[in-house]
Amino acid sequence: MANIQSSPTATTQGPIAHYDAVIIGAGVGGLYALHHLRKMGFSVRVYEGANGVGGTWWWNRYPGARVDGPASPFYCYTFSEELVREWDWTETQSDQASVLAYLEYVADRFDLRRDIQLDTWIRDARYDEDQQRWWVETSRGERVGCQFLICAVGTLSAAYKPNIPGIEDFAGKCYHTSRWPQEPVSFVGKRVGVIGTDSSGVQAIPEIAKEAAHVTVFQRTPQYTIPARNRPVDPEEMRQARENWSDLRAQMDASPLGMPLKISQRLAAEDTPEQRQALYEALWQKGGLDLLFGSYADIITNKEANRTLADFVRGKIREIVRDPQTAEKLLPDYYVGTKRQLLDNGYYETFNRDNVTLIDLRHDPIQTVTATGIRTATGEHSLDMIVLATGFDAVTGALVRLNPQGRGGVRLAEKWRTHFDTYLGLGISGFPNLFTIHGPGSPSVLYNMPLGAELESAWIGDCMKHLRERGLGAIEATPEAEKGWDQEVAMFANATLFPLTDSWYTGANIPGKPRQFCVHLGGSHYFQRIADVAAQGYEGFVFEKEHYVDVATAS
Ligand SMILES: Cc1cc2nc3c(=O)[nH]c(=O)nc-3n(C[C@H](O)[C@H](O)[C@H](O)COP(=O)(O)OP(=O)(O)OC[C@H]3O[C@@H](n4cnc5c(N)ncnc54)[C@H](O)[C@@H]3O)c2cc1C
Repeated sequence: MANIQSSPTATTQGPIAHYDAVIIGAGVGGLYALHHLRKMGFSVRVYEGANGVGGTWWWNRYPGARVDGPASPFYCYTFSEELVREWDWTETQSDQASVLAYLEYVADRFDLRRDIQLDTWIRDARYDEDQQRWWVETSRGERVGCQFLICAVGTLSAAYKPNIPGIEDFAGKCYHTSRWPQEPVSFVGKRVGVIGTDSSGVQAIPEIAKEAAHVTVFQRTPQYTIPARNRPVDPEEMRQARENWSDLRAQMDASPLGMPLKISQRLAAEDTPEQRQALYEALWQKGGLDLLFGSYADIITNKEANRTLADFVRGKIREIVRDPQTAEKLLPDYYVGTKRQLLDNGYYETFNRDNVTLIDLRHDPIQTVTATGIRTATGEHSLDMIVLATGFDAVTGALVRLNPQGRGGVRLAEKWRTHFDTYLGLGISGFPNLFTIHGPGSPSVLYNMPLGAELESAWIGDCMKHLRERGLGAIEATPEAEKGWDQEVAMFANATLFPLTDSWYTGANIPGKPRQFCVHLGGSHYFQRIADVAAQGYEGFVFEKEHYVDVATAS
């Protein structure tokens, strides 16, 4: 930071703007990182490809899109008590529009927009070893320099569109759930085909079915989903949450999931089958994630314990879905909870509607899309509209698509060809001064993500300060530290059943993607670990002294 040390605003001598940090992405992660780093006195610029802030909540406008984690008001930032006091959540399972409205409010409330450039994709990012800077090129043709590149590009932001033969020939409208149009889409009188039954499909299908003439659901993998039991938030509940905010925040910090959920300490085998059934039933009626996390401590770690809950949910599917053949097709056969745990609003019930048909692609695969529908092995399904609820190249996809060029001109996609190595889920060897928020190797999608973004941004800010105060120009994770970290992430994962399931957690939804479970399951332990690394002088990272660079002429 030779010439721009402590600069509260960007240095713009010469034709190129220079910042202490460029943040890519204005979702939950990027917005908070901007606020935090700016408060610390750094000059920061955020670039966002969408033409609004909000990330996930800007893109995923499909009908039924809602948080699938903790009940409101816990999917929110915690850094400002004023914000907690000011914002009223209206439903226990907030919908996309409310979360987006909240994030827009945050952007205005903390005057973030002046440092955010929307409608701007970062097309390239290269590290200059001599200048210890990143050079970033935007879709608008700008070239920008920065010491630190902070990738808040999202874990569920790289939409995945499978290569389905004939899809280009379809004459009707075709939408991807995460690239949903801004204007409302009407399904009235339409025959709609939905491909995919993961989170987005499970949320969208019941809503589409309420309006459409007919919905044909093309299912590759059945889902275990738990009733969300969404309901209005009582003003008294909001009042109590605000009053007890410091307690709740302490519970979130202590929780492996960053949520004030009660995690059971009891093992499934400690109860009789009747007791288990009664507990599962009570938690099913209650709704939400308690069934998975509040029932028994070993559901995710012990095959037999897992089977007891899987059997219970399979029993529920048989009970709810009236047609036994349809019910059979809906029965999942993997370990419950090892794919993203879904919360639904009447998903299984939707298959009792006369206007809904389920096609099991495992036995009746898609052969081709035609101009008028989808042909499977057993016949043609006439459609006016196709909804691709086919999800994301999760956790690593947006980073690989960004594909920054690090030391020696090596691209990230090349480094990650067979394995996604990071150190702490925050740094990558060969990519000095690059940080990720919610990156692979961090708790990301298995943690309350707004809280995770706050904690990771705080760590990154402190690290940047460490460099600034010591006249250091670059920080970089060592390959040895990455190896150790990889083992630590794998150790946590291998103590669970997660790696045994084909899921987007393991990369199995993307053809050719290396199979790796790259979410750190340590929760609060993870945040203690990264704090310890910082306290020990950023053990596992190497530093370089600052080179002299005249940013007025740097290019
Ligand atoms: C339907 C749904 C429900 C969810 N529910 C929950 C929940 O209940 N609890 C929870 O914790 N999490 C939930 N999540 C996960 C959610 O993604 C995170 O909570 C959070 O919104 C992620 O924020 P982020 O800033 O990391 O990424 P994002 O919100 O994905 O933002 C990343 C942004 O980066 C931009 N970007 C990417 N690449 C570039 C580039 N090259 N140039 C410019 N811009 C770029 C993207 O356009 C995007 O706007 C849910 C996700 C979905 C899809």
